[in-house]
Amino acid sequence: MKNIVIFGAPGSGKGTQSDKIVEKYGFKHISTGDVLRDEIKNGTELGKTAKEYIDNGQLIPDSLMIDILASVYDSFGKVEGVIFDGFPRTIPQAEALKSMLAERNTEVSVMLDLEVPEEELMDRLIKRGQISGRADDNEETIKKRLTVYHNQTSPLIDWYKADGKYTYIKGTGALDTIFADICDAIDKA
Ligand code: ATP
Ligand code: MG
Repeated sequence: MKNIVIFGAPGSGKGTQSDKIVEKYGFKHISTGDVLRDEIKNGTELGKTAKEYIDNGQLIPDSLMIDILASVYDSFGKVEGVIFDGFPRTIPQAEALKSMLAERNTEVSVMLDLEVPEEELMDRLIKRGQISGRADDNEETIKKRLTVYHNQTSPLIDWYKADGKYTYIKGTGALDTIFADICDAIDKA
């Protein structure tokens, strides 16, 4: 059983590479962004709360995210592996993930850090916004999300280095080259 954290700034390609991992390894995929967007689409109470934060480029409060994550994880039952995409995004979330997995006698196998330069992130997200129509993929909100990434999420790089799980992945270039590097890291984990 492998627990893979796929990490990176908004637009770094976490979702794209997660789909490829699912296809090759048959792992289950938790994308907290997708979970929240579903809740918004279904008009649930959680969705209403989430929408205000997301449209503003902010993170949803940790306590809420941690509960959602545990319930999705437990719904999977016995599986070969799980990919965490978009979680953790803060140090409290990383600590909560560590204890949640420890309570289930398992742990993070590897954290894959997809590194992409900021100008390219901006370009990718603006292009995605034109196609996806995602309300948070507009220039103003993207800038806020990148600031939130720098302030709240990027400290996780050192946190996972200290935890011995960190692996750098070059997030630019051909999709298949990036995926090959990811596969190497997963196979070693
Ligand atoms: P990528 O393009 O690499 O998939 P992303 O940042 O564009 O990443 P999502 O991961 O889909 O997009 O997240 C969208 C929004 O959902 C975030 O900006 C945030 O408001 C909210 N969100 C998602 N995951 C979390 C989390 N773990 N904690 C708090 N808020 C979250
Ligand atoms: Mg995504």
